[in-house]
Amino acid sequence: MNKFIPYGKQWINQEDIDSVVSVLKSDWLTTGPMVDKFEKAFADYVGSKYAVAVSSGTAALHTAAFAAGISKGDEVITTPMTFAASANCVLYQGGKPVFADIDKKTYNINPNEIEKKITKKTKAIIPVDYTGQPCELDVINEIAEKQNLTVIEDASHAVGAKYKGKKIGSISDLSIFSFHPVKHMTTGEGGMITTDSKELYGKMLLFRNHGITKNEDDFNSKSDGNWFYEQQLLGFNYRITDLQCALGLSQLKKIDEFIKRRREIVKKYNDSFEKVEEITIPVHPEYIDPSWHLYVIQLNLEKLLIDRKKVFDQLRKNKVGVQVHYIPVYFHPYYQKLGYKKGLCPNAEWLYTRSISLPLFPKMNDNDVDFVIETVKNVVNRQ
Ligand SMILES: *Cc1c(COP(=O)(O)O)cnc(C)c1O
Repeated sequence: MNKFIPYGKQWINQEDIDSVVSVLKSDWLTTGPMVDKFEKAFADYVGSKYAVAVSSGTAALHTAAFAAGISKGDEVITTPMTFAASANCVLYQGGKPVFADIDKKTYNINPNEIEKKITKKTKAIIPVDYTGQPCELDVINEIAEKQNLTVIEDASHAVGAKYKGKKIGSISDLSIFSFHPVKHMTTGEGGMITTDSKELYGKMLLFRNHGITKNEDDFNSKSDGNWFYEQQLLGFNYRITDLQCALGLSQLKKIDEFIKRRREIVKKYNDSFEKVEEITIPVHPEYIDPSWHLYVIQLNLEKLLIDRKKVFDQLRKNKVGVQVHYIPVYFHPYYQKLGYKKGLCPNAEWLYTRSISLPLFPKMNDNDVDFVIETVKNVVNRQ
């Protein structure tokens, strides 16, 4: 009997466990040497000058939104085809999320739609590298530069992905990552922001720790003594622990292996579904090297005899842990109450009616993958 295969799952081995246990036996549980080590190793991996580790991907988005100077009345353009946190971070800062529609082929935010949504109030763009496929970053960055906007790339799905040969995390003004267990690598909960800007880096270090600095060179007033510190702005406690960073460091060592396995599984899925007329497989431009957090297929509803809901339920019943990514953000009651109307982004709404995410995580073995393929083929052919 096959066991239930979830859509995503972490891979923890003895090395990870040893790494965390050694920190448990050390002098620091939080904000010790591991935070700095993890940040340096991650910055090194993505090719950015600076990295700031925080308590979640959501905290990373909020920290980046703060650093970008998003404040009351500012508009920020993002995609509705994402997890709510990508837009919520704008609301945290008193700004207004403005949704630009996606491209029907790549499912990523369409740069032409971004341009249409720019007003005098626009302050930033939050493109999301959906499923691990980088957005059209050259075009987006060019628009941002012309209009003096900050780009906060939500790269929660895209650790290790490349755009025109460049690693994600080294391209936009700010890039954010999530280390939730379903993502490429995990710290339990955790997140990271990468940037090349020293100024943004400094702001984020303050924001992560209540707005407090203990660095005498940065004080506004003269130090009263060695106990002295200053709160210079209103920040949060978004610190990550040393325990989590020890796990992050050990996971990071395996990231290329994890991604390699994800790519193998995606290739197997693509080869198996390419000729299935009920299914459209993901496509991307050849200058993009995705790292595949999700494998999202379109169900060609016109060719199916059962609807998406039935396909979903039957796959779940057969122990294939499918999911739908995503309900367009502005469909949620909270956003509806803010005044967003359905119909705003037709392509995203179209994708929502017909997409389904299949299980994808590096620990899946070939039997699991074959089982998913056979089950999906069976279900989409049902009468
Ligand atoms: C996972 C995710 C987040 C939030 O990350 P957390 O670590 O769960 O807070 C934000 N944006 C996207 C696109 C995500 O997939």
